[in-house]
Amino acid sequence: MTQEGRVPRFAVLGAGMSGILAAVKLREAGLDFTVFEKAEKVGGTWRENTYPGIACDVPSHLYSYSFELNPDWSYYCSPGAEIQDYFEGVTDRYGLERKMRFGDAVTRCEWRDGMWDVGTASGYRDRFDWVIAATGILHHPKLPDIEGLESFGGSMFHSARWDHSVPLDGRRVGLVGTGSSGVQITGALAHRVARLSVFQRTAQWVVHTDQVEYSEEQRGAFRSDAERLERIRAKMEVDFHDGFATQVLDADSGLSEGIEAQCTKDLETKIADPELREKLRPDYRAACKRLVVSHNFYDAIQHPNTELITESIERVEPEGVRTADGRLHELDVLVLATGFHVDRFMRPMRIVGRDGVLLDEVWEKRPSAYLALAVSGFPNFFMLNGPNSPVGNFSLIETAERQFAYVMQLVERVRRGELSVAEPTAEAAQRFEEERTEAAKKTVWATGCRSWYLDDRGIPFAWPFPFSRFREEMSAPRLEDYRGADA
Ligand code: NAP
Repeated sequence: MTQEGRVPRFAVLGAGMSGILAAVKLREAGLDFTVFEKAEKVGGTWRENTYPGIACDVPSHLYSYSFELNPDWSYYCSPGAEIQDYFEGVTDRYGLERKMRFGDAVTRCEWRDGMWDVGTASGYRDRFDWVIAATGILHHPKLPDIEGLESFGGSMFHSARWDHSVPLDGRRVGLVGTGSSGVQITGALAHRVARLSVFQRTAQWVVHTDQVEYSEEQRGAFRSDAERLERIRAKMEVDFHDGFATQVLDADSGLSEGIEAQCTKDLETKIADPELREKLRPDYRAACKRLVVSHNFYDAIQHPNTELITESIERVEPEGVRTADGRLHELDVLVLATGFHVDRFMRPMRIVGRDGVLLDEVWEKRPSAYLALAVSGFPNFFMLNGPNSPVGNFSLIETAERQFAYVMQLVERVRRGELSVAEPTAEAAQRFEEERTEAAKKTVWATGCRSWYLDDRGIPFAWPFPFSRFREEMSAPRLEDYRGADA
């Protein structure tokens, strides 16, 4: 069905950071859209992750929509609850809730007769010209494969499913995992609990930073001078994306050595006990795993209530965790900060493209996407922060904004009849994937460590090029890479 002469209809899957962005932009463009959200409110990762200590280690003035700068961020890197409030505030200000369907998960999207037939768990159905999948990456909690896990007699939950009804003060808490989540949890719990047993499988490079709070005077100055805030954000974008986050992924840039030297100095000066220091010293290159940034981890790990356990976990028992040295660590609460299944994206939705092709089959080995956005065989279906997107220490907001602006250019081409639908050719998708894979092998992520950046072959799955290339690719679609598929 041609979209010429009528307002196209969009289904946006997910009301997290990317879905809210899509809704704002579609509303501004006067287009028709529905946002589908399985939960009862907006926020995505910031709604789901409420663990003690949660914050965003990307500076808040960068981790904001470019069109909704916020002079009132309390810290340089603000706490999660404040970020959740920010997204709820944007949703309110743009009156987006009435365009959102909450509490009903999309279960299938099927391309039929030139449109997407979208169905939900409750049986609701509607047809759309475009699907924007904004379902996130770090979304499906991964439980560790540890013998006896289910036998634990106390309270146990994943970091992204924090059970706030469980008391922590004065109790014996075990924490498995020392990634970005585990480190933030350690910082928040050490002084609260009777004992914090931190089970570390692999030591982390920790970038120690100061916690910088914005004074009321500074916030007032941001409020009264919007241009100043824009300048600050623009500078952060260059410093962070083109500088830090781009250079750090280039194994030859020298930046990771610089970071390693700084982290080592922090480790040497801030950790007093030589034995603990050695337990915390990584044996792989800095930035091979995602860099962990913290203002309080080194204090917390030296707190008298905290014990860092590096003996491997043998099994979980009703009373606690048994390590390979035979010791039983008795616990009341066990927190699993063990990361996410990062290859799921919008799955388990059933997504059926042109000629009945199933996304699950196309992605059977691993997910991939042309320019991190689209899949051949799936017309007018675009992902924000989908497979192969820039991750690492980038702001995912910046990424989503650029991706969405790119999609809107294609929408316009289709509306003008220059393309019947927007679908990358299989050749373009394959060419991009081959080039991306080769570049990925040369990144710091491929220098020999275990991390969630690696796919089933051990090749980093993320955007491996400089951020400048991402910006350039997103500035204008290469139409020769698209087929005018029969609708
Ligand atoms: P993660 O980085 O995947 O870390 C998982 C941790 O659990 C690792 O320490 C891992 O050890 C450990 N682990 C997993 N299975 C285990 C097992 N069977 N036995 C023992 N240990 C096990 O997960 P995350 O900390 O939730 O962070 C995921 C990502 O979320 C981050 O990299 C970041 O991109 C994002 N995040 C961002 C922020 C922020 O401030 N912006 C905050 C939190 C999270 P190994 O290292 O040995 O694998």
